[in-house]
Amino acid sequence: MPSSDSITRYVAAVTELLGEASITLVDDVLDRYGEHTLPAPDTRPGAVAYPDSTAAVQTLVRLANEHGVALFPISNGQNIGLGTRSPVRPGQVVVDLGRRMNRILEIDETLGYCVLEPGVSFRALHDTLLERGSRLMMSPTAGPSQGSVLANALDKGGGSGAYADHFGMSCGVEVVLGNGDVIRTGDGSLAGDAHPNWHVSKYSFGPFLDGLFSQSNFGIVTRMGMWLMPRPPHIEPFFFTFPDDDDLGEVIELIRPLKQSNFVPTLIRATNDLYLLSSATSNPEYARTGGTRTLSDAGRAALRERYGLGAWTVSGAFYGASKAAVAPSVERVVRHFTASGKGRHISLDEAQEIAPLHIAINANTGVPTDSELKMLGWRPGGGVAWLSAGTPMVGSVAAEFQRAARRICTDHGLEYLLSNVCGPRFARGVHSILFNRENADECARADACYRQMATLFASNGVFVGRAPTLYQSFHAEQRMPEFNAACAAIKHALDPNGVIAPGKYGIE
Ligand SMILES: Cc1cc2nc3c(=O)[nH]c(=O)nc-3n(C[C@H](O)[C@H](O)[C@H](O)COP(=O)(O)OP(=O)(O)OC[C@H]3O[C@@H](n4cnc5c(N)ncnc54)[C@H](O)[C@@H]3O)c2cc1C
Repeated sequence: MPSSDSITRYVAAVTELLGEASITLVDDVLDRYGEHTLPAPDTRPGAVAYPDSTAAVQTLVRLANEHGVALFPISNGQNIGLGTRSPVRPGQVVVDLGRRMNRILEIDETLGYCVLEPGVSFRALHDTLLERGSRLMMSPTAGPSQGSVLANALDKGGGSGAYADHFGMSCGVEVVLGNGDVIRTGDGSLAGDAHPNWHVSKYSFGPFLDGLFSQSNFGIVTRMGMWLMPRPPHIEPFFFTFPDDDDLGEVIELIRPLKQSNFVPTLIRATNDLYLLSSATSNPEYARTGGTRTLSDAGRAALRERYGLGAWTVSGAFYGASKAAVAPSVERVVRHFTASGKGRHISLDEAQEIAPLHIAINANTGVPTDSELKMLGWRPGGGVAWLSAGTPMVGSVAAEFQRAARRICTDHGLEYLLSNVCGPRFARGVHSILFNRENADECARADACYRQMATLFASNGVFVGRAPTLYQSFHAEQRMPEFNAACAAIKHALDPNGVIAPGKYGIE
């Protein structure tokens, strides 16, 4: 941890060069920036800085090198369940880019892209497109609408619709490196001021550097190009439900061909009962069991019955010229999912009456909402940690992981919540570990549950796609040492004094 003397000197130097509004040491503010939802104490920063330009970020980085201070960049700090806005280590100076760098720099209606500063939220981008009467739509996450589009892409977050792979849809960034240099990636790297292809040509001359800045600590991104999809005249969400836990194998087998052939243009999710229901209701047995046991089978069955859902719900959407135009596609997936007799089609009219399905309806039609955040109220105390170990799109493999991970959650007295975010070959398994953060025993069980599940997946050769700050070093140790050495070498080259978030994603 940097000494309090070096932080004091750093704050004085930043204040002198960038003004008082650029950094704070106010106790309450530091307390709030240290808060998170993980099963560990808060991680209080040494200070919080608010740059207003790329040049200001450069100044923060240069002074950090001079004063031996570590920085932790956030955009909107909505990384709930992954660290929120707290730094990976206490004492790092949080650089909150979202507060003052939140402009939409460009929306190109012809080529279908926008250029964003770090603080542009899903909500702001959605509202701006709507206000302008744009022909374009964005891909929201199911998470906080105030989340940053740029940061979510950098953290390899996932959204909805056909443009759900947010990092995949990003194109061209501007980055301040740990040594204070600013670089533009891709076509932006051409010397000079005009770069018409910067945000439209993904793979330019030379190595593809954009990936270096995702889930790393090699630089602070100050601008990003993001592709936007032309809004189809009609979007038709669809839903199916399957009754039993062990139906996951069949569900995955049914989804794979629809994605490999791109018959369904959107991402397809296969989500379990409690993942959906936790955003509509709290755990009805918590008061009786004190949270020591997982919800009983009878309790689960009663909740499913109340909401008309089974063990797994499949969601996706079709695009077309009109409702009539997509009707044959809907009929075809209805036959596909109901052929074995297990799947039941939930019509769109019926889905409109089932509150937990509104999240997918909104997300697939490009509307960000905050409804899923209600899942933090499933147990008191607001604890959540995401474990993102996935599965190849092979039913038997997915079903086996499901059984093993469910057993671990049950052994720890915690509910099993999983949403499979399915592509053609791989499904990211979004496991939500919900617990009472104010209860030491539940925190310890949540922590042990995360580690045991992650160890189980790793022992089967499956890694995570993203991780809470608390577990980033733990996961780095699961990697081959040569990979870690390569990351350390890149870090040393781009940030020789290690001023940007040492320890983030396990990179020192
Ligand atoms: C109920 C719930 C549902 C969720 N659903 C989803 C979902 O569907 N999809 C999904 O992807 N996530 C989801 N999340 C997780 C998370 O809330 C979102 O990903 C959110 O968008 C992240 O917050 P942010 O965008 O403000 O990023 P931040 O908190 O600002 O940053 C995220 C990460 O990127 C780094 N970073 C940020 N800005 C920069 C920068 N300029 N330069 C370098 N590094 C930077 C940060 O250090 C941090 O590691 C969900 C969370 C909850 C609680």
